[in-house]
Amino acid sequence: MKYVIVIPDGCADEPVAELGGVTPLQAAKLPNMDRVAKAGVVGLSNNVPPSLTPASDVATLSLFGYDPLQYYTGRAPLETAAMGIDLGPNDWAVRCNLVYVPDGHMRDFTAGHISSEDGAPLINALQHELGGKELGGGTIEFHPGVQYRNILVWRGRGAPCPLEGTSAQAPHDIPDKPVADYLPQGPGARLLIDLMEASKPIFAAHPATQKRIAEGKKPATQTWLWGHGKAPRIRPFAELYGGRGAIISAVDLVRGVGVLLGWHRIDVPGATGYLDTNYANKGKYAIDALADFDLVCVHVEAPDEASHEGKATEKVRALEQIDEHIVGPLLDALPRHGDYRLLVEPDHRTTLRTRAHAHGAVAFAACGTGIAPDAAERYDEPTAAATGRAFDPGWQLMKWWLGRGA
Ligand SMILES: [Zn+2]
Repeated sequence: MKYVIVIPDGCADEPVAELGGVTPLQAAKLPNMDRVAKAGVVGLSNNVPPSLTPASDVATLSLFGYDPLQYYTGRAPLETAAMGIDLGPNDWAVRCNLVYVPDGHMRDFTAGHISSEDGAPLINALQHELGGKELGGGTIEFHPGVQYRNILVWRGRGAPCPLEGTSAQAPHDIPDKPVADYLPQGPGARLLIDLMEASKPIFAAHPATQKRIAEGKKPATQTWLWGHGKAPRIRPFAELYGGRGAIISAVDLVRGVGVLLGWHRIDVPGATGYLDTNYANKGKYAIDALADFDLVCVHVEAPDEASHEGKATEKVRALEQIDEHIVGPLLDALPRHGDYRLLVEPDHRTTLRTRAHAHGAVAFAACGTGIAPDAAERYDEPTAAATGRAFDPGWQLMKWWLGRGA
């Protein structure tokens, strides 16, 4: 049996006035996702426990069949795994965003979708100035990642980490808000705030910043530190559920979850983690991967990014691209491999109204060998709610979808 998961990140939404009072999934023309719905079943899955923040880290763990209440330790450790950086038992990882805060407000949590080419020199400058510094009983290291998503590692020596019990705000959830109201709280707050402050003059003086300003682009004015945690102890997917898995994603976080589960990471040329991603290549590489793997997961960040930017028509377009270039070709290719099952499910809701992630169930569609069709003919939120099929907590869906029992 071949298994394929397609994740349109953050596609779940509410009815949107700009779209005539329907959700993006309803507004989009999705003939192939509707084929999945007709051939199989549609329902709801609740991937984010009320006590955790709705985001891809927690929600992706659920989607892959892991109870986040048991396994989740923070976002940054998952990304760190994807970057191939080892975390020891005393080490902590912290997400280090490059952000644009020109006037005390979070104007852009991506610093104008800063390229890795423009961003990495800034992170390297932080490492040069501050790397190896002794802080809170440990030493710090900065690691450049993809675009605005970078990592700070705190290497401990056995004493308690001041980040334990410290909370920090995700910058994508405070668009245009005054940052002074959302600074870290708790024992490690000073450490994080001081490091964010220290980045300001270093970035302002850096040639990469001057270059972006000259090009009319938003510069990174500082780092924003959040998402910290220790390395999680995750049981391999093969041990829990069986099969050889592979993951296709341009986002370190999602790749990191896959890598921690023991899945092979497949890099796709042209995959950007943004609206301009190469959808067709993602579909093609997923189909090619079916020759070598029992389970292939294709994650597409674009619908989430469109939501964060409040672009309803772009969100619809991203969904239509996923439908045409990923779900369609997969539906055509899968029967050549014999028995198969396909699952289309976003991780979490990202609403255009708030431009932020939200709690609440998301719609999924699943079809394939041994899945008896229900009456649903479309893949969207109202249809999913009407079928009465629901997984809450959502991590229980995986076992059902794999055919390993209810
Ligand atoms: Zn998001």
